[in-house]
Amino acid sequence: MPRPRLALLLWLMMAGVGAAALFFSTGNRLTETFGTDARILHRVLSQRMEQQEAVLNAVDALERQGMDAPTLGTYLDTLLRPYPQVVAVERCSARGCQTLGTPAEQPPLLSVSPSARPTVRWPQGGGPLYALSQNKVRVWVDARRLTGALDEGAAPLTYTLFQPDAEQVIVAHTPATGAASATLRVAKVLGTSLQAFPIHISRPVPWSAWPWAATLLWILLTAGLSVLVFRLLEGRRDAQRALLDERVRAGGVVQAASEAIVALDDIHRVTLANPAARAVLDHPLPPGTDLRAVTTFQATLSQAPFNATSFWDSAVPTALPEGLTLRRGHEAVGVEGSLAPLRGVDGELRGRVLLLREVGPLQRRMLEHLEDGERRVREHEEMLAHVSRLSTLGEMSAGLAHELNQPLTAIVSYGQAAARLLDDPEPDLARVRHAVSASVTQAGRAAQIIMRLRQWVRRAPSRARPTDLLQAVQNVLTLCRADLNRLGVQVQASFEDAPMVLADPVQLEQIVLNLLRNALDAVQDTLEPAIELSIVSEGRSWSLSVLDNGPGIAPEVAPRLFTPFTTSKTGGLGLGLSLSQTLAQGMGGDLSGRDARAGGAVFTLSLPRLVLEAASD
Ligand code: ADP
Repeated sequence: MPRPRLALLLWLMMAGVGAAALFFSTGNRLTETFGTDARILHRVLSQRMEQQEAVLNAVDALERQGMDAPTLGTYLDTLLRPYPQVVAVERCSARGCQTLGTPAEQPPLLSVSPSARPTVRWPQGGGPLYALSQNKVRVWVDARRLTGALDEGAAPLTYTLFQPDAEQVIVAHTPATGAASATLRVAKVLGTSLQAFPIHISRPVPWSAWPWAATLLWILLTAGLSVLVFRLLEGRRDAQRALLDERVRAGGVVQAASEAIVALDDIHRVTLANPAARAVLDHPLPPGTDLRAVTTFQATLSQAPFNATSFWDSAVPTALPEGLTLRRGHEAVGVEGSLAPLRGVDGELRGRVLLLREVGPLQRRMLEHLEDGERRVREHEEMLAHVSRLSTLGEMSAGLAHELNQPLTAIVSYGQAAARLLDDPEPDLARVRHAVSASVTQAGRAAQIIMRLRQWVRRAPSRARPTDLLQAVQNVLTLCRADLNRLGVQVQASFEDAPMVLADPVQLEQIVLNLLRNALDAVQDTLEPAIELSIVSEGRSWSLSVLDNGPGIAPEVAPRLFTPFTTSKTGGLGLGLSLSQTLAQGMGGDLSGRDARAGGAVFTLSLPRLVLEAASD
């Protein structure tokens, strides 16, 4: 059954049973009180009946002793004061009846029938007034006054007195009550010999007598309790489910692990073993197997230079010594692993867990992965280079056409001019010579463009050898000394000792020369031109930075700085940086450039640091 419905049912049951119990006990209490009150009323009425009979006896005795009527009347006025229900006393003879004393009510007419035995008689039509007579005396009783001066309390009783024979109502006492939910009833007979009248006593039970507030409180209380129980049940179910989930997940992890995992109880019997464990130990490892008796592992442990007993019983995680092998048939595999205690929530030892992994396959797998990764990187790089070369080829052809167009046009026009001059009857040989030498210069420029381009395209394989980066910088500085002095450039240099790199010294100088030339070009129009050279060690590389205080890199060339034919200079070829970067990358390094923070530009060449083994080659 779903939990909410169960909780509802529980609540309904608790609320119903509780409410029933409350109503039942209230009903019991009401019945009990009613019984007691009815008994008291019965006793009081019976006593009053006896009083009337006593009065009758007393007056009859006095009358028979011959007491005269006035004396008897005076006596009666005093005697009857405590008995309001006795409303008149008469003395009767054959001639009629005479009232004695002062009657509270005038008695009705009733025939005379003297009898020595006491009798009860009603006037014609019955009613609440009746007479008790004995010999000549008649005592009139008004049944309506029987319960006068009786404290009826908060829950008055209703009663009806009946005549003993005719079953006629003598008096019905019905105090005013509200709407009743039920009526309690009892029938008795008054306890006197003469007036043994049947009496029906009842009490209406008002709606307010029932425990409504307590029942409501109980219902609310049980509702709250049910909600609480429901929440507790839900919480417990959730916790159980989470625990189960966790267990299933943990089990899944253990089963899927590529390491061998064997859980043991406190006496080294297998409680759980994953497939890897069964494969590594070459044993089915059913639960209950004593792992110490598994021969493959026993043989492995016997190689360890330690006491096997203390290994098995260690209270702390213990690693297997390195170099152990596990023999499976003809195959021997290197293994490593550990045995760790498993503790309960209070830290008590519950068992142990053995982890084992084969070392050989792991290393082999790692190597395979590594080689695979390297191969993929290489393929990727080659593909990238191919793509970038294809894309630069287009740019290059456009640039080349543009660059060569200028000298070729010049050569054509100089050639035409020379031919025209030679056609003159008296050719001006000086002008012809000038035209020819100018076209030779332009042809030289075209050849230079083509030479630089071939250099760029050829990518001459670098003849890398241990090279001092500082030496290369100093050579270039010497080369450019004259220009530096001419422009008044202040050169600052900071170097670390012996920055040895693996590089082609000629190509390296070519790169440095390019960077220094560009810096010189950049600071040409600067007021106080300065160039700063520094070599620092960065991880596994040496970095040479060339910083100038020129105008910085022009925004239009910045995004294509290292693309061939990118230039902002008139007469510039725009091949220096792209060639330098290609050379640097060919040596396993890189070249980058950006605007310097304090103004100007900074270009950084990084080359792999020469490692000792390489140096000793
Ligand atoms: P070129 O010097 O023939 O223009 P490069 O490839 O050497 O060819 O340089 C390309 C462009 O890079 C230059 O035209 C210039 O705009 C920019 N550049 C290079 N070095 C600097 C520098 N130090 N400061 C500012 N701009 C530079």
